[in-house]
Amino acid sequence: MKLQLLPSTFESGGAASKRQHLTTLVLDDRVAFDAGTLAMACSEAQRASIRDVVISHAHLDHIAGLPLFIDDLFATLTAPVRIHATSDVIEVLEDNIFNWQIYPRFSELTNEFGPVMEYVEFRPGNCFSVCHLNVIPIEVDHNVQSCGFVISDDRGTIAVTGDTAPTDAFWSSVNKLPSVRAVLIECAFPNELAELASLSFHLTPNGLAQELRKLERSDCEIFVTNIKPAYCTDTVSQINRLDIDGLKVLEVGMTYEW
Ligand SMILES: [Zn+2]
Repeated sequence: MKLQLLPSTFESGGAASKRQHLTTLVLDDRVAFDAGTLAMACSEAQRASIRDVVISHAHLDHIAGLPLFIDDLFATLTAPVRIHATSDVIEVLEDNIFNWQIYPRFSELTNEFGPVMEYVEFRPGNCFSVCHLNVIPIEVDHNVQSCGFVISDDRGTIAVTGDTAPTDAFWSSVNKLPSVRAVLIECAFPNELAELASLSFHLTPNGLAQELRKLERSDCEIFVTNIKPAYCTDTVSQINRLDIDGLKVLEVGMTYEW
């Protein structure tokens, strides 16, 4: 399984920066998990091959690139882009984004080949298939409904928390799996902003360390993601000081393979 966290912003010379403002994970160049920066940062090959987008929750940093992605492809799609989401998230997208005011309601539009976008609903706890992947969505603890994911292909499994405060169901599911290659865990704010992290249902390095005590396995690499760019230096140094074996920060733009 190949995974890439797409870049969000650019350095002054135009190269992709290492700061993560938005979230899009691309798996095997075919399936996007969240779409914060999908239209803006995917490669042309990914734009041509991604037709499935799985949404963890409807916060803007996870969906901002979704309307633009479909817009770019509108005339050329020979099959609809499938948006996999819970019924709550679909409702939020239809009411607040694809509402004819912010952007067209693509779910009602067709090009010369047929529909351009369709929703595929999933329910937390119920496994579903996307392309060659099996996905178990697990509800985590955020200030809106939000899911983490256990994602498997025929070679292995990874688990992604998505945006969350301290949570339990995710870890008990991950602990029951026969093997896990990698766990991606969020850590938005440094320890000094624990109150803000708590109010916004995110983790700090101290919270991350407590969460990782719930992980009862040693067969996986652990990557930290979703570090708020404004506090990145402090947050990363606090993560490094935790001195947890195998804990690394997931690098923006880099391709990982398990
Ligand atoms: Zn969020």
